Amino acid sequence: MNWLLPRIALATLAVALGALVGVWVGRWSQAPFLGEVLGAGSAVLVLVLVDSLRGHRLIQWLRGNQQGAAPRDTGFWGELGYRIERAVRERERVIDRERLQLSQFLSAIEASPNGVLMLDRHDHIQWCNKVAADHFALDPQRDLQQRITNLVRSPAFVSYLQSGQYAEPLMLGNTRGAGNLSVVVRSYGEGMRLVLSQDVTERERAESMRRDFVANVSHEIRTPLTVLTGFIETMSSLPLTEAERKRVLFLMGQQTQRMLTLVSDLLTLAQLEGSPRPAPDRWVSLDGLLNRVASDAQALSSGRHQISVQTETHADVAGVEPELLSAAANLVTNAVRYTPDGGAIDVVWRLQTDGSGELSVCDTGPGIAREHLPRLTERFYRVDGSRSRETGGTGLGLSIVKHVAQRHGGELHIQSEPGKGSKFRLVLPAVRVRVAGGEAEVGVEAAMPRAQA
Ligand code: ADP
Repeated sequence: MNWLLPRIALATLAVALGALVGVWVGRWSQAPFLGEVLGAGSAVLVLVLVDSLRGHRLIQWLRGNQQGAAPRDTGFWGELGYRIERAVRERERVIDRERLQLSQFLSAIEASPNGVLMLDRHDHIQWCNKVAADHFALDPQRDLQQRITNLVRSPAFVSYLQSGQYAEPLMLGNTRGAGNLSVVVRSYGEGMRLVLSQDVTERERAESMRRDFVANVSHEIRTPLTVLTGFIETMSSLPLTEAERKRVLFLMGQQTQRMLTLVSDLLTLAQLEGSPRPAPDRWVSLDGLLNRVASDAQALSSGRHQISVQTETHADVAGVEPELLSAAANLVTNAVRYTPDGGAIDVVWRLQTDGSGELSVCDTGPGIAREHLPRLTERFYRVDGSRSRETGGTGLGLSIVKHVAQRHGGELHIQSEPGKGSKFRLVLPAVRVRVAGGEAEVGVEAAMPRAQA
């Protein structure tokens, strides 16, 4: 209110001054009263003109974009301009803050791994993030304000959206045909809806793998159990001779052994999946490891194959000894089991030029057709099921090898051709391999001499 008194005083002073001047001028023309009125009126006119000018300047500023400062006048117009400018700046600050919050909020939703799509009461798309655009094959800019049911025409989706019953998610094949989506709708505001989509292809795949795994394990265990049950019935219901009894007990022992091997492989796999990555500083001597693998292979082969184990360079490998042993043993025993009598098996350890180490197991067995190669490391995948079971295979060996390789940062490579044998290469990265001693001559470090078939 500090402008009010000066304004009244100024107006009064101006009118009084105008009147005085008017009286003085009026005396000359013999009309002092008229002069007084005209003088006071002129003063009021000047005041109104000055006010209008200031008001005009302020309105001009308000009509513009209010970028610069408001007109800096004194008194009433000065205070009015100052207060309006302050309100305008405050409003701009609030808008900026809200704009920033909105953009942060949208960036957060944009970063979500799930699809988010906002619909108005008429199912028009208000906003959607890139993931939703990808899930529903939409263009996040071009399709704004379009009716979603015109763009996503899946009957299941349309009827789900229109049903208003959103307690259960909708399972939908990806509109681009590349997987499965779980879609949930939530209502908010006045008739607005939020469509949330999630790609569950991986989850479904894992779930189906889990189901297959349980079915496979059950099948693998049921077969020997059925055989055992048959033998138990035979033994309890039929009078057997001593020789028959021994034969039945031998066969029962075989089936029990098969189950034991299966359970042991399953435990190994579970352990591999559940334990932390092997430490990079626990060194295992490869010579010792290969010696044990070689003597196991020799025992399994019983002289039916030519087996050679060569170490080009003495080395240590950083990792878990039982795991590395199990991987190497699986590769070598597979070679013995699948290679017909008289065949040759070569096990070679060598350092590669980049410092990584390679354990290769090469056999002259039947080889494997190309189409099977990518699936060999799947659990329970067998090319020749009967040969595998006959020789005590569980279908888990290569899966174990692959897991061990991956846990040690390495890879398993398989090369094979029907009729030309197979080569399995377990490659370990340079960080997990170190030279242990002097160079060994190729072929001289054979852990065992080639046995004649
Ligand atoms: P299994 O216990 O059946 O041997 P693996 O996982 O070790 O299971 O091997 C998977 C399949 O790969 C085997 O069933 C077999 O058909 C094939 N296979 C593995 N090693 C060889 C090999 N050296 N020669 C030919 N086939 C092989």
